[in-house]
Amino acid sequence: MKRSGFLLLLVIPFFALSQDSGIPAEFTLEKSEPEAHLRFLASDELQGRRTTEMGNNIAARYIAAQLEAYGLKTAPGLEGYFQPIAFEAVTPPRQASFTLHKTVYTQGENLLLLTGNADNLKTEAVFVNYGWIDEESGHNDYQGLDVKGKIVLALPGTPDGQDPMSIFNAMKTKRKLARQQGAVALIELYRLQFPWAFFRSFFDKENLSLADEDAQDSPGQDIVYGWMQEEQDGNFQRLQEGKKLKATLTSKGFSRRTTFSQNVIGIIEGTDPQLRDEYVLLTAHYDHVGTGKNGGGAFTPQDSIFNGARDNGMGTVALISAAKALSKDRPRRSVIILAVTGEELGLLGSKYYSEHPLIPLDKTIFNLNTDGAGYNDVSYVSVVGFGRTGTDALVEAGVNIFGLDVFPNPAPEQNLYDRSDNVSFASKGVPAIQFTPGTTGFDEKISKYYHQVGDNPDTIDYGYLHKFCQAFARTARLIADDNARPQWRNGDKYEKAGKELYGE
Ligand SMILES: [Zn+2]
Repeated sequence: MKRSGFLLLLVIPFFALSQDSGIPAEFTLEKSEPEAHLRFLASDELQGRRTTEMGNNIAARYIAAQLEAYGLKTAPGLEGYFQPIAFEAVTPPRQASFTLHKTVYTQGENLLLLTGNADNLKTEAVFVNYGWIDEESGHNDYQGLDVKGKIVLALPGTPDGQDPMSIFNAMKTKRKLARQQGAVALIELYRLQFPWAFFRSFFDKENLSLADEDAQDSPGQDIVYGWMQEEQDGNFQRLQEGKKLKATLTSKGFSRRTTFSQNVIGIIEGTDPQLRDEYVLLTAHYDHVGTGKNGGGAFTPQDSIFNGARDNGMGTVALISAAKALSKDRPRRSVIILAVTGEELGLLGSKYYSEHPLIPLDKTIFNLNTDGAGYNDVSYVSVVGFGRTGTDALVEAGVNIFGLDVFPNPAPEQNLYDRSDNVSFASKGVPAIQFTPGTTGFDEKISKYYHQVGDNPDTIDYGYLHKFCQAFARTARLIADDNARPQWRNGDKYEKAGKELYGE
């Protein structure tokens, strides 16, 4: 506190001279404001802000109300501050069994079907390697195979990726490829490192994903899709040798419905006629994981609400604070304030926006995202992606002025950069970094609250939240005001995407 107070004394006369409006609004943000926002957004009444649930909608409405109060413009093509997103909610079959030759697989035991109903289907099983087709490279696992009306069995993942992320990302495409080839079912062999029981409990509930916009993927055309934990009965060896085996499939109680959530977006127009066509995109996810079983962590009848005060109430409040400060004293470039939904389901809200941007991505010159699991050292702002976009000096200036230091790239083993919403934009080429509450590594201080019911507003250091919000707004301003645009560092994994996006 002392340190920032001292720095403010040095800073105020400088800004009083350099800005027409006097002290930029991030310096005059009251501590009570972020605290009040957080106490609302992480309240029990919002029930953990789970995507598509009422608590999530109320959080979105609250954020939109702030943007309206600050006078933000709505994005082109929208009537209000919501960008609606359709989701599909899929409930796996309640009962299913699959017989391969003489071995029986039963749903909830060694079988987990996720989609599709089947009524005592008698056919053959065919092994299709990964069940992958890549037109660019010419790879086609279905070449020379007749799978019409048959059940195809596949290895998990793709020829190029068998890590959990690749396996997860390939599921939908593999299902579609199998259906296009005329198969009636696709079952993947469970050959993952983590325990089958854990995988089963993760998927054996209603699962939400972005609604498929491909008209062909209409509900009537669902094929049976799922996973099996193979028995050591020699059947797979026979299948791999190209033999066909008799197979029977029954699956009941699968259902699918369409439901909705929304991103919240508002625009602050820049003051510089030359630079206002360039946009700095500020993002934070406002969704969390909900209550009870959906939370994924331990809960009791007394407390079953995963409030998500840190994850990502703090980031959401930093975003709201930046909206206020930057709309009051507008920077040279324009700013997009985007609160995304669906992060906890797999970065879905940011992914949707990156594929349906309301301001063209090639005019979006930077993404400053804020998200985090919590904090274990309140002398820092941790910056994921530090050193990668040419913005380090501005970030340090924005953070240091409030008496905080930058902790660069914490917990490298957690691969944080590719696990939050910034990656939805980075992968499209937009230079992006993430502001995270002071984290020096993933220790017990972090895991105590990360995705736990105890991550509630009574356990927050509000003095720190105040500075964190100020530093976020300040950093956004410095980047939006700077003459130079952020640039990917030479050789960065997203540099090529950047060159393609901006046509350099
Ligand atoms: Zn989270």
